[in-house]
Amino acid sequence: MNAMKAPVNLMEKITALCKRRGFIFQSSEIYGGLNGFWDYGPAGAQLKRNIRDQWWQRYVRNGHISPSGDHFDIVGLDASIIMHPDVWKASGHTESFSDPLVDCRKCKQRFRADQLPDTKCPSGGDHEFTEPRDFNLMFQTFIGPVKDDASIAFLRPETAQAIFVQFQNVLTVSRTKVPFGIAQIGKAFRNEINPRNYTFRSREFEQMEIEFFIKPGSDESWHEYWLKDRMDWYKSIGLSPRKLNLEKHEDSELAHYASACSDIIYRFPFGDQELEGIAARGNFDLCQHANATGKIPQYFDPDTGERFYPHVIEPSAGVDRIALALLTDAYHEETITDSKGKTEIRTVMRFHPAIAPVTVAVFPLLRNRPELVTKAYDIFETLRHRFIVQWDDRGNIGKRYRYQDELGTPWCVTIDFDTIGQGEPSLKDTVTLRDRDTMNQERVSVENLTDIIQERLLQPFTP
Ligand code: ATP
Repeated sequence: MNAMKAPVNLMEKITALCKRRGFIFQSSEIYGGLNGFWDYGPAGAQLKRNIRDQWWQRYVRNGHISPSGDHFDIVGLDASIIMHPDVWKASGHTESFSDPLVDCRKCKQRFRADQLPDTKCPSGGDHEFTEPRDFNLMFQTFIGPVKDDASIAFLRPETAQAIFVQFQNVLTVSRTKVPFGIAQIGKAFRNEINPRNYTFRSREFEQMEIEFFIKPGSDESWHEYWLKDRMDWYKSIGLSPRKLNLEKHEDSELAHYASACSDIIYRFPFGDQELEGIAARGNFDLCQHANATGKIPQYFDPDTGERFYPHVIEPSAGVDRIALALLTDAYHEETITDSKGKTEIRTVMRFHPAIAPVTVAVFPLLRNRPELVTKAYDIFETLRHRFIVQWDDRGNIGKRYRYQDELGTPWCVTIDFDTIGQGEPSLKDTVTLRDRDTMNQERVSVENLTDIIQERLLQPFTP
Protein backbone atom coordinates (compact mmCIF):
# COMPACT_ATOMS: atom_id res chain seq x y z
CA MET A 1 0.00 0.00 0.00
CA ASN A 2 1.71 3.23 -1.14
CA ALA A 3 0.47 6.69 -0.31
CA MET A 4 0.55 8.68 -3.56
CA LYS A 5 1.73 12.26 -3.76
CA ALA A 6 -1.01 14.89 -3.78
CA PRO A 7 -2.09 15.39 -7.37
CA VAL A 8 -1.90 18.86 -8.89
CA ASN A 9 -5.59 18.98 -9.63
CA LEU A 10 -6.42 17.93 -6.10
CA MET A 11 -9.20 20.49 -5.64
CA GLU A 12 -10.96 19.21 -8.76
CA LYS A 13 -10.81 15.67 -7.45
CA ILE A 14 -12.07 16.71 -4.03
CA THR A 15 -14.89 18.75 -5.57
CA ALA A 16 -15.91 15.74 -7.69
CA LEU A 17 -15.83 13.43 -4.68
CA CYS A 18 -17.87 15.91 -2.62
CA LYS A 19 -20.58 15.88 -5.25
CA ARG A 20 -20.40 12.11 -5.89
CA ARG A 21 -20.68 11.20 -2.22
CA GLY A 22 -23.09 13.91 -1.12
CA PHE A 23 -20.86 16.25 0.85
CA ILE A 24 -21.39 19.47 -1.10
CA PHE A 25 -23.65 20.54 -3.98
CA GLN A 26 -23.91 23.84 -5.78
CA SER A 27 -26.81 25.85 -4.42
CA SER A 28 -29.81 25.86 -6.80
CA GLU A 29 -27.81 23.61 -9.10
CA ILE A 30 -30.69 22.73 -11.42
CA TYR A 31 -31.20 26.46 -12.03
CA GLY A 32 -27.56 26.91 -12.97
CA GLY A 33 -26.20 27.51 -9.47
CA LEU A 34 -25.70 30.73 -7.52
CA ASN A 35 -22.21 32.13 -7.11
CA GLY A 36 -21.04 32.05 -3.49
CA PHE A 37 -23.76 29.75 -2.14
CA TRP A 38 -23.49 26.03 -1.37
CA ASP A 39 -25.65 23.20 -0.10
CA TYR A 40 -24.47 20.32 2.03
CA GLY A 41 -25.79 16.88 1.09
CA PRO A 42 -26.40 14.00 3.52
CA ALA A 43 -22.70 13.40 4.24
CA GLY A 44 -21.80 17.09 4.38
CA ALA A 45 -24.71 17.98 6.64
CA GLN A 46 -23.58 15.31 9.12
CA LEU A 47 -19.93 16.38 8.82
CA LYS A 48 -20.87 19.96 9.70
CA ARG A 49 -23.07 18.78 12.53
CA ASN A 50 -20.16 16.77 13.94
CA ILE A 51 -17.90 19.85 13.76
CA ARG A 52 -20.49 21.94 15.61
CA ASP A 53 -21.07 19.18 18.17
CA GLN A 54 -17.34 18.83 18.88
CA TRP A 55 -17.06 22.58 19.41
CA TRP A 56 -20.22 22.93 21.48
CA GLN A 57 -19.28 19.92 23.60
CA ARG A 58 -15.80 21.24 24.27
CA TYR A 59 -16.78 24.83 25.02
CA VAL A 60 -20.37 24.96 26.27
CA ARG A 61 -20.99 21.54 27.80
CA ASN A 62 -17.58 20.75 29.26
CA GLY A 63 -16.32 22.48 32.40
CA HIS A 64 -13.28 24.76 32.24
CA ILE A 65 -10.40 25.39 34.60
CA SER A 66 -8.34 28.56 34.16
CA PRO A 67 -4.53 28.53 34.34
CA SER A 68 -4.85 29.80 37.94
CA GLY A 69 -7.01 26.78 38.83
CA ASP A 70 -10.45 28.45 38.97
CA HIS A 71 -13.55 27.09 37.33
CA PHE A 72 -15.11 29.26 34.63
CA ASP A 73 -18.21 28.99 32.48
CA ILE A 74 -18.98 29.32 28.81
CA VAL A 75 -22.70 29.55 28.11
CA GLY A 76 -24.63 29.32 24.84
CA LEU A 77 -26.69 31.80 22.83
CA ASP A 78 -28.79 31.43 19.69
CA ALA A 79 -29.68 34.90 18.45
CA SER A 80 -31.68 36.09 15.44
CA ILE A 81 -30.02 36.73 12.10
CA ILE A 82 -31.74 40.06 11.55
CA MET A 83 -31.16 42.54 14.35
CA HIS A 84 -32.10 46.16 14.93
CA PRO A 85 -30.27 48.18 12.25
CA ASP A 86 -28.80 50.48 14.93
CA VAL A 87 -26.73 47.51 16.14
CA TRP A 88 -24.64 47.79 12.98
CA LYS A 89 -24.28 51.54 13.35
CA ALA A 90 -22.93 51.17 16.89
CA SER A 91 -20.62 48.30 15.92
CA GLY A 92 -19.18 50.28 13.00
CA HIS A 93 -20.36 47.88 10.31
CA THR A 94 -22.67 50.36 8.56
CA GLU A 95 -19.81 52.81 8.24
CA SER A 96 -16.86 50.61 7.51
CA PHE A 97 -17.58 46.90 6.95
CA SER A 98 -16.32 47.08 3.41
CA ASP A 99 -13.73 45.78 1.01
CA PRO A 100 -11.94 47.89 -1.61
CA LEU A 101 -13.63 47.27 -4.97
CA VAL A 102 -12.19 47.91 -8.43
CA ASP A 103 -13.80 47.45 -11.86
CA CYS A 104 -11.99 46.53 -15.03
CA ARG A 105 -12.95 49.24 -17.55
CA LYS A 106 -12.59 46.78 -20.43
CA CYS A 107 -14.27 43.53 -19.31
CA LYS A 108 -16.48 45.14 -16.59
CA GLN A 109 -15.59 42.43 -14.07
CA ARG A 110 -15.27 43.45 -10.41
CA PHE A 111 -12.44 42.49 -8.10
CA ARG A 112 -11.22 43.09 -4.58
CA ALA A 113 -8.35 45.54 -4.89
CA ASP A 114 -6.30 43.46 -2.42
CA GLN A 115 -6.98 40.21 -4.31
CA LEU A 116 -6.37 41.09 -7.95
CA PRO A 117 -6.22 38.20 -10.43
CA ASP A 118 -2.97 37.42 -12.21
CA THR A 119 -4.88 36.48 -15.37
CA LYS A 120 -5.20 38.56 -18.54
CA CYS A 121 -8.36 40.51 -19.34
CA PRO A 122 -10.80 38.40 -21.39
CA SER A 123 -11.24 41.48 -23.63
CA GLY A 124 -7.52 41.26 -24.52
CA GLY A 125 -4.32 42.52 -22.92
CA ASP A 126 -4.11 43.56 -19.28
CA HIS A 127 -7.04 44.56 -17.11
CA GLU A 128 -7.61 48.30 -16.79
CA PHE A 129 -8.67 48.89 -13.20
CA THR A 130 -10.59 51.84 -11.77
CA GLU A 131 -9.47 53.45 -8.50
CA PRO A 132 -10.59 51.32 -5.51
CA ARG A 133 -13.79 52.37 -3.76
CA ASP A 134 -15.41 51.00 -0.63
CA PHE A 135 -18.03 48.31 -1.09
CA ASN A 136 -20.14 47.49 1.98
CA LEU A 137 -20.42 43.72 2.40
CA MET A 138 -23.68 43.65 4.35
CA PHE A 139 -26.72 42.14 2.64
CA GLN A 140 -29.64 44.50 2.87
CA THR A 141 -33.32 43.61 3.18
CA PHE A 142 -36.58 45.27 4.23
CA ILE A 143 -38.76 44.50 7.22
CA GLY A 144 -42.51 44.57 6.64
CA PRO A 145 -44.52 45.47 3.54
CA VAL A 146 -43.10 48.93 2.84
CA LYS A 147 -39.71 49.26 1.18
CA ASP A 148 -38.36 52.56 2.44
CA ASP A 149 -35.35 53.81 4.40
CA ALA A 150 -37.12 53.18 7.69
CA SER A 151 -37.62 49.49 6.93
CA ILE A 152 -34.04 48.70 5.90
CA ALA A 153 -32.42 45.86 7.83
CA PHE A 154 -29.34 43.70 7.35
CA LEU A 155 -28.53 40.02 7.44
CA ARG A 156 -25.86 39.78 10.12
CA PRO A 157 -22.32 39.75 8.72
CA GLU A 158 -21.06 38.05 11.91
CA THR A 159 -22.64 36.35 14.90
CA ALA A 160 -20.53 38.22 17.46
CA GLN A 161 -22.54 41.43 17.81
CA ALA A 162 -25.60 39.61 19.20
CA ILE A 163 -23.40 38.34 22.03
CA PHE A 164 -22.52 41.91 23.04
CA VAL A 165 -26.09 43.11 22.62
CA GLN A 166 -27.37 40.30 24.90
CA PHE A 167 -24.46 40.54 27.34
CA GLN A 168 -26.51 41.95 30.21
CA ASN A 169 -29.37 39.47 29.85
CA VAL A 170 -27.02 36.51 29.69
CA LEU A 171 -24.98 37.71 32.64
CA THR A 172 -28.11 38.19 34.75
CA VAL A 173 -29.53 34.74 34.07
CA SER A 174 -26.29 32.76 34.17
CA ARG A 175 -25.21 33.37 37.79
CA THR A 176 -21.69 33.55 36.44
CA LYS A 177 -18.86 36.02 36.84
CA VAL A 178 -15.91 37.31 34.89
CA PRO A 179 -14.03 35.54 33.41
CA PHE A 180 -16.75 33.78 31.45
CA GLY A 181 -17.67 33.22 27.82
CA ILE A 182 -20.73 33.35 25.60
CA ALA A 183 -20.66 31.01 22.62
CA GLN A 184 -22.79 31.02 19.52
CA ILE A 185 -23.03 29.07 16.28
CA GLY A 186 -25.00 30.47 13.39
CA LYS A 187 -25.26 31.72 9.85
CA ALA A 188 -23.58 34.91 8.72
CA PHE A 189 -23.84 36.66 5.36
CA ARG A 190 -21.34 38.77 3.46
CA ASN A 191 -21.79 40.02 -0.05
CA GLU A 192 -18.22 39.04 -0.96
CA ILE A 193 -16.94 40.68 -4.14
CA ASN A 194 -15.28 37.50 -5.43
CA PRO A 195 -16.46 34.28 -3.80
CA ARG A 196 -13.82 31.67 -4.59
CA ASN A 197 -11.85 28.58 -3.74
CA TYR A 198 -14.94 26.38 -3.60
CA THR A 199 -16.69 26.94 -0.25
CA PHE A 200 -13.75 28.83 1.27
CA ARG A 201 -15.09 32.29 0.54
CA SER A 202 -18.89 32.11 0.36
CA ARG A 203 -21.61 34.71 0.67
CA GLU A 204 -23.59 32.67 3.19
CA PHE A 205 -21.58 30.76 5.77
CA GLU A 206 -21.64 29.62 9.34
CA GLN A 207 -19.59 30.94 12.24
CA MET A 208 -18.73 29.55 15.66
CA GLU A 209 -17.79 32.44 17.89
CA ILE A 210 -16.97 32.93 21.54
CA GLU A 211 -16.73 36.25 23.30
CA PHE A 212 -14.68 35.54 26.36
CA PHE A 213 -15.14 38.34 28.92
CA ILE A 214 -12.14 39.10 31.10
CA LYS A 215 -10.84 41.64 33.57
CA PRO A 216 -9.07 44.54 31.81
CA GLY A 217 -5.33 44.00 31.99
CA SER A 218 -5.49 40.20 31.70
CA ASP A 219 -5.78 40.40 27.90
CA GLU A 220 -2.35 39.10 27.00
CA SER A 221 -2.39 35.96 29.12
CA TRP A 222 -5.96 35.05 28.12
CA HIS A 223 -5.12 35.65 24.45
CA GLU A 224 -2.25 33.19 24.78
CA TYR A 225 -4.58 30.74 26.53
CA TRP A 226 -7.07 30.84 23.65
CA LEU A 227 -4.43 30.52 20.93
CA LYS A 228 -3.21 27.32 22.49
CA ASP A 229 -6.67 25.98 23.28
CA ARG A 230 -7.98 26.56 19.78
CA MET A 231 -4.89 25.02 18.14
CA ASP A 232 -5.37 21.96 20.35
CA TRP A 233 -9.00 21.73 19.29
CA TYR A 234 -8.09 21.70 15.58
CA LYS A 235 -5.66 18.86 16.24
CA SER A 236 -8.29 17.03 18.29
CA ILE A 237 -10.66 16.87 15.31
CA GLY A 238 -7.95 15.29 13.17
CA LEU A 239 -6.38 18.11 11.13
CA SER A 240 -2.69 17.48 10.38
CA PRO A 241 -0.61 19.49 12.88
CA ARG A 242 2.01 20.15 10.18
CA LYS A 243 -0.60 21.97 8.08
CA LEU A 244 -1.73 24.24 10.94
CA ASN A 245 -0.03 27.50 11.79
CA LEU A 246 -0.50 30.66 13.78
CA GLU A 247 -0.02 34.00 12.09
CA LYS A 248 0.27 37.08 14.26
CA HIS A 249 -1.05 40.38 12.95
CA GLU A 250 1.47 43.20 13.12
CA ASP A 251 0.55 46.08 15.41
CA SER A 252 0.08 48.28 12.35
CA GLU A 253 -2.62 45.89 11.04
CA LEU A 254 -4.69 45.92 14.23
CA ALA A 255 -7.94 47.83 14.70
CA HIS A 256 -7.36 50.82 17.00
CA TYR A 257 -9.16 49.13 19.92
CA ALA A 258 -7.46 45.71 19.57
CA SER A 259 -4.30 44.80 21.48
CA ALA A 260 -3.55 41.57 19.60
CA CYS A 261 -4.88 39.31 16.86
CA SER A 262 -3.62 36.02 15.48
CA ASP A 263 -5.09 33.84 12.78
CA ILE A 264 -5.12 30.07 12.71
CA ILE A 265 -3.95 29.21 9.24
CA TYR A 266 -4.43 25.94 7.39
CA ARG A 267 -2.43 24.75 4.38
CA PHE A 268 -5.20 24.28 1.81
CA PRO A 269 -4.30 22.90 -1.63
CA PHE A 270 -4.84 26.48 -2.90
CA GLY A 271 -2.51 28.02 -0.32
CA ASP A 272 -2.20 29.02 3.34
CA GLN A 273 -5.51 30.53 4.42
CA GLU A 274 -7.35 31.61 7.57
CA LEU A 275 -9.61 29.19 9.45
CA GLU A 276 -10.12 31.36 12.48
CA GLY A 277 -9.18 34.75 13.89
CA ILE A 278 -8.46 35.15 17.61
CA ALA A 279 -8.56 38.80 18.61
CA ALA A 280 -8.12 40.69 21.87
CA ARG A 281 -10.70 43.40 21.21
CA GLY A 282 -10.60 45.31 24.49
CA ASN A 283 -14.08 46.52 25.49
CA PHE A 284 -14.78 48.41 22.29
CA ASP A 285 -17.96 46.55 21.27
CA LEU A 286 -19.55 46.46 24.71
CA CYS A 287 -18.85 50.17 25.21
CA GLN A 288 -20.24 51.04 21.77
CA HIS A 289 -23.55 49.31 22.60
CA ALA A 290 -23.54 50.71 26.14
CA ASN A 291 -23.09 54.24 24.76
CA ALA A 292 -25.68 53.80 22.04
CA THR A 293 -28.40 52.41 24.32
CA GLY A 294 -27.50 53.41 27.88
CA LYS A 295 -28.73 49.92 28.80
CA ILE A 296 -25.51 48.11 29.68
CA PRO A 297 -24.21 49.07 33.13
CA GLN A 298 -20.60 48.48 34.09
CA TYR A 299 -19.88 45.02 35.43
CA PHE A 300 -19.53 44.81 39.21
CA ASP A 301 -16.78 42.46 40.33
CA PRO A 302 -18.03 40.78 43.54
CA ASP A 303 -14.49 39.78 44.56
CA THR A 304 -12.78 43.15 44.32
CA GLY A 305 -15.70 45.60 44.39
CA GLU A 306 -14.44 47.18 41.12
CA ARG A 307 -16.71 48.30 38.30
CA PHE A 308 -15.60 48.00 34.69
CA TYR A 309 -16.59 47.03 31.16
CA PRO A 310 -14.94 43.63 30.64
CA HIS A 311 -12.47 43.18 27.81
CA VAL A 312 -12.92 40.29 25.40
CA ILE A 313 -10.91 37.64 23.65
CA GLU A 314 -12.79 36.60 20.52
CA PRO A 315 -12.03 33.23 18.89
CA SER A 316 -14.04 33.41 15.67
CA ALA A 317 -14.12 30.34 13.41
CA GLY A 318 -15.94 29.39 10.20
CA VAL A 319 -17.68 26.00 10.10
CA ASP A 320 -17.52 25.81 6.30
CA ARG A 321 -13.80 26.52 6.22
CA ILE A 322 -13.21 23.86 8.86
CA ALA A 323 -15.31 21.39 6.85
CA LEU A 324 -13.26 22.21 3.75
CA ALA A 325 -10.00 21.81 5.66
CA LEU A 326 -11.17 18.42 6.97
CA LEU A 327 -12.21 17.31 3.49
CA THR A 328 -8.87 18.26 1.93
CA ASP A 329 -6.91 16.81 4.84
CA ALA A 330 -8.82 13.53 4.72
CA TYR A 331 -8.49 12.99 0.96
CA HIS A 332 -6.02 10.21 0.12
CA GLU A 333 -5.33 8.14 -2.94
CA GLU A 334 -3.47 4.86 -2.60
CA THR A 335 -2.34 2.22 -5.03
CA ILE A 336 -3.43 -1.16 -3.75
CA THR A 337 -2.70 -4.62 -5.08
CA ASP A 338 -5.19 -7.45 -4.70
CA SER A 339 -4.39 -11.14 -4.09
CA LYS A 340 -4.18 -11.74 -7.87
CA GLY A 341 -1.59 -8.98 -8.28
CA LYS A 342 -4.00 -6.53 -9.89
CA THR A 343 -3.45 -2.92 -8.88
CA GLU A 344 -6.05 -0.20 -8.48
CA ILE A 345 -6.30 3.25 -6.97
CA ARG A 346 -8.25 3.46 -3.76
CA THR A 347 -9.66 6.85 -2.78
CA VAL A 348 -10.20 7.08 0.94
CA MET A 349 -11.29 9.90 3.21
CA ARG A 350 -9.29 9.48 6.39
CA PHE A 351 -11.47 11.48 8.78
CA HIS A 352 -11.02 11.34 12.50
CA PRO A 353 -13.64 8.72 13.55
CA ALA A 354 -15.40 11.30 15.75
CA ILE A 355 -15.80 13.63 12.74
CA ALA A 356 -16.62 11.08 10.02
CA PRO A 357 -20.20 11.43 8.74
CA VAL A 358 -20.75 7.71 9.21
CA THR A 359 -19.03 5.81 12.04
CA VAL A 360 -20.10 2.29 11.12
CA ALA A 361 -21.67 0.80 7.99
CA VAL A 362 -23.66 -2.42 8.39
CA PHE A 363 -23.81 -4.85 5.49
CA PRO A 364 -25.99 -7.95 5.26
CA LEU A 365 -24.01 -10.16 2.84
CA LEU A 366 -27.08 -10.61 0.60
CA ARG A 367 -30.15 -8.42 0.51
CA ASN A 368 -32.55 -11.14 -0.62
CA ARG A 369 -31.99 -13.50 2.33
CA PRO A 370 -34.37 -12.51 5.16
CA GLU A 371 -32.42 -14.46 7.79
CA LEU A 372 -29.31 -12.36 7.02
CA VAL A 373 -31.26 -9.12 6.81
CA THR A 374 -33.07 -9.71 10.11
CA LYS A 375 -29.83 -10.42 11.96
CA ALA A 376 -28.09 -7.47 10.33
CA TYR A 377 -31.00 -5.23 11.25
CA ASP A 378 -30.71 -6.27 14.94
CA ILE A 379 -27.05 -5.29 14.90
CA PHE A 380 -27.82 -2.06 13.04
CA GLU A 381 -30.39 -1.13 15.70
CA THR A 382 -28.00 -1.85 18.58
CA LEU A 383 -25.17 0.17 17.04
CA ARG A 384 -27.49 3.03 16.09
CA HIS A 385 -27.97 4.00 19.74
CA ARG A 386 -24.28 4.73 20.13
CA PHE A 387 -22.88 5.65 16.72
CA ILE A 388 -23.80 7.18 13.37
CA VAL A 389 -24.67 4.06 11.40
CA GLN A 390 -25.47 3.49 7.75
CA TRP A 391 -27.24 0.50 6.26
CA ASP A 392 -25.86 -0.69 2.91
CA ASP A 393 -27.10 -3.81 1.14
CA ARG A 394 -26.33 -3.01 -2.50
CA GLY A 395 -23.67 -4.59 -4.71
CA ASN A 396 -20.83 -6.85 -3.71
CA ILE A 397 -18.98 -6.31 -0.45
CA GLY A 398 -15.86 -4.99 -2.23
CA LYS A 399 -17.91 -2.24 -3.90
CA ARG A 400 -19.57 -1.37 -0.62
CA TYR A 401 -16.14 -1.00 0.99
CA ARG A 402 -15.02 1.39 -1.79
CA TYR A 403 -18.15 3.46 -1.37
CA GLN A 404 -17.67 3.71 2.39
CA ASP A 405 -13.96 4.54 1.90
CA GLU A 406 -15.01 7.58 -0.10
CA LEU A 407 -17.40 8.61 2.65
CA GLY A 408 -14.63 8.11 5.21
CA THR A 409 -16.47 5.48 7.26
CA PRO A 410 -13.92 4.08 9.76
CA TRP A 411 -15.57 0.67 10.19
CA CYS A 412 -17.74 -1.71 8.18
CA VAL A 413 -19.52 -4.72 9.66
CA THR A 414 -20.60 -7.64 7.47
CA ILE A 415 -23.21 -10.17 8.56
CA ASP A 416 -22.85 -13.46 6.66
CA PHE A 417 -24.00 -17.09 6.86
CA ASP A 418 -21.41 -17.87 9.56
CA THR A 419 -22.97 -15.14 11.73
CA ILE A 420 -26.38 -16.80 11.66
CA GLY A 421 -25.08 -20.33 12.28
CA GLN A 422 -25.43 -21.56 8.69
CA GLY A 423 -21.68 -21.89 8.06
CA GLU A 424 -18.61 -22.58 10.16
CA PRO A 425 -20.06 -23.41 13.62
CA SER A 426 -17.23 -21.76 15.56
CA LEU A 427 -18.04 -18.46 13.83
CA LYS A 428 -21.69 -18.32 14.91
CA ASP A 429 -22.58 -14.91 16.36
CA THR A 430 -19.48 -13.29 14.96
CA VAL A 431 -19.21 -10.66 12.21
CA THR A 432 -16.45 -9.30 9.98
CA LEU A 433 -15.18 -5.94 11.18
CA ARG A 434 -13.24 -4.09 8.49
CA ASP A 435 -10.96 -1.15 9.19
CA ARG A 436 -10.92 1.76 6.71
CA ASP A 437 -7.25 2.68 7.08
CA THR A 438 -5.54 -0.70 7.34
CA MET A 439 -8.24 -2.56 5.35
CA ASN A 440 -7.77 -5.36 7.89
CA GLN A 441 -10.72 -7.66 8.36
CA GLU A 442 -11.19 -9.51 11.60
CA ARG A 443 -13.85 -11.72 13.07
CA VAL A 444 -15.34 -10.31 16.27
CA SER A 445 -18.25 -11.44 18.38
CA VAL A 446 -21.54 -9.60 18.03
CA GLU A 447 -21.64 -9.31 21.81
CA ASN A 448 -18.41 -7.31 21.94
CA LEU A 449 -18.95 -5.26 18.79
CA THR A 450 -20.23 -2.05 20.41
CA ASP A 451 -17.44 -2.02 23.01
CA ILE A 452 -14.75 -2.70 20.42
CA ILE A 453 -15.92 0.17 18.23
CA GLN A 454 -16.31 2.49 21.22
CA GLU A 455 -12.80 1.67 22.39
CA ARG A 456 -11.31 2.30 18.93
CA LEU A 457 -13.22 5.55 18.64
CA LEU A 458 -11.39 6.83 21.70
CA GLN A 459 -7.94 5.78 20.57
CA PRO A 460 -5.48 8.50 19.48
CA PHE A 461 -5.87 9.33 15.81
CA THR A 462 -2.96 10.07 13.48
CA PRO A 463 -4.00 12.01 10.37
P1 ATP B 1 -11.12 36.89 5.36
O1 ATP B 1 -9.93 37.76 5.66
O2 ATP B 1 -10.75 35.52 4.86
O3 ATP B 1 -12.19 37.57 4.55
P2 ATP B 1 -12.07 37.72 7.87
O4 ATP B 1 -10.78 38.00 8.58
O5 ATP B 1 -12.87 38.84 7.31
O6 ATP B 1 -11.81 36.61 6.75
P3 ATP B 1 -13.56 37.26 10.21
O7 ATP B 1 -14.38 38.47 10.06
O8 ATP B 1 -12.48 37.25 11.24
O9 ATP B 1 -12.97 36.85 8.80
O10 ATP B 1 -14.54 36.02 10.41
C1 ATP B 1 -14.22 34.94 11.25
C2 ATP B 1 -14.24 33.63 10.51
O11 ATP B 1 -15.44 33.50 9.75
C3 ATP B 1 -13.12 33.48 9.48
O12 ATP B 1 -11.93 33.06 10.09
C4 ATP B 1 -13.71 32.42 8.58
O13 ATP B 1 -13.51 31.13 9.10
C5 ATP B 1 -15.19 32.74 8.59
N1 ATP B 1 -15.51 33.51 7.39
C6 ATP B 1 -15.42 34.84 7.21
N2 ATP B 1 -15.79 35.19 5.97
C7 ATP B 1 -16.14 34.03 5.34
C8 ATP B 1 -16.62 33.74 4.03
N3 ATP B 1 -16.86 34.69 3.14
N4 ATP B 1 -16.87 32.44 3.71
C9 ATP B 1 -16.67 31.46 4.62
N5 ATP B 1 -16.22 31.69 5.86
C10 ATP B 1 -15.95 32.96 6.23
